[in-house]
Amino acid sequence: MKADILIKGGRVIDPSSGTDTIADVALYDGLVAAVGRLEGVFAKETVDADGMVVAPGFIDLHCHLREPGPADETIESGTLAAAAGGFTAVCAMPNTTPPVDSPAMVEFIRLKAASEANVRVLPIGTITKGRQGLELAELALMAEKGAVAFSDDGSPVADGEMMRRALEYSKIVRRPIIEHCEDMSLTNGGEANEGPVTTWLGLNPIPRASEECMVARNLVLAIRTRGRLHLAHLSTELSISLFNWAKGYGADITAEVAPHHLALTEALLAGYETYAKVNPPLRGEEDRAAVALAAKNGLIDAIATDHAPWSDEKKKKEFKSAPNGISGLETAVAMSWTALVNGLGMAPSDFVARFTTGPARVLGFAPPSLSEGSAADITIIDPKTVRAVEPMDFASRGKNSPAGGMQLSGWPRATIISGRAAMLDGVVRRWRV
Ligand SMILES: [Zn+2]
Repeated sequence: MKADILIKGGRVIDPSSGTDTIADVALYDGLVAAVGRLEGVFAKETVDADGMVVAPGFIDLHCHLREPGPADETIESGTLAAAAGGFTAVCAMPNTTPPVDSPAMVEFIRLKAASEANVRVLPIGTITKGRQGLELAELALMAEKGAVAFSDDGSPVADGEMMRRALEYSKIVRRPIIEHCEDMSLTNGGEANEGPVTTWLGLNPIPRASEECMVARNLVLAIRTRGRLHLAHLSTELSISLFNWAKGYGADITAEVAPHHLALTEALLAGYETYAKVNPPLRGEEDRAAVALAAKNGLIDAIATDHAPWSDEKKKKEFKSAPNGISGLETAVAMSWTALVNGLGMAPSDFVARFTTGPARVLGFAPPSLSEGSAADITIIDPKTVRAVEPMDFASRGKNSPAGGMQLSGWPRATIISGRAAMLDGVVRRWRV
């Protein structure tokens, strides 16, 4: 048989079918052509996957490509970073300048991505016009143009009635409302997680209740409306137990956690390290452990990067004026693998599920699969090689990270989209023809 790419001898993990076995995978004409012990394959390119994990393409539910907007990232640079990080598809958050709050803006993102992106880009539209929280955006028309979800990320929907209506609409447009849960009156200008670190450094504290109160309100609204709610970047133990509690009421809810919340703590803020300034803030060890456990045991559906890159010039300000955000697309998989698989003994098949079937469930997509005839979107991970995070080598324009120098394993080794390599052996390629 003929193949464009033959992936030889990898550990093929496909959560959609429960497959976890050593096999070859042949890709041809954009599809998975065959899986098994394959002989007599004439392949244009062969990838030796001995000792590697071969999985369906990873989907990131939450990243900031910053276009249109500041030059800290573009659709092009952000999706090169995604390919380097092992992602075949990313959901682009709409808090750009101007925001993606209309059908025309959704179309703009889609067209721009079609010509410049190096991975699949799934646009998210805003919940309210201008992210002002005052008037519902045209959700149905944005959905028609390809918006996969709605979120005012970064500007939580403060008004309860507005959120209730958005959740009612979510049932009509059949798209999730993704909420960044934060009560701004409780955040009140805070800069870091309230606790010993804010006391020690003299920073304005953000109480954990700022996230938790809004998580609780949104969950109650999801229970009452039966709307479709997805909670972004949960970061505290109480947020996670509230989410679990609402599941008991049969609410149509899903949730994600970010790699930095399951792997890192506020201890990294020592010395006023602005690279570790992020919202929700890095928490203490108790919360980190609870977030990691929820990712491991499947209480939460997905791990999402919240990739929020900024240039060094912007990040290297005094703590108060440095912007929130971590450049995370290129460290997400290894940071999570190191914390969960190495650290907690998570099964690699469960790990793969948090980046594939989990995000697909959140978006209402069919589960990504490696079965014959499926789209040839594939992520290959190297569980063994231990390597330090080198932010200067990022493809992202946000060439900084609180994890710089950290030794991680579980690095993505190949990103294959539609049967073409978008990244191979750490080298990003243009896969579009
Ligand atoms: Zn957010």
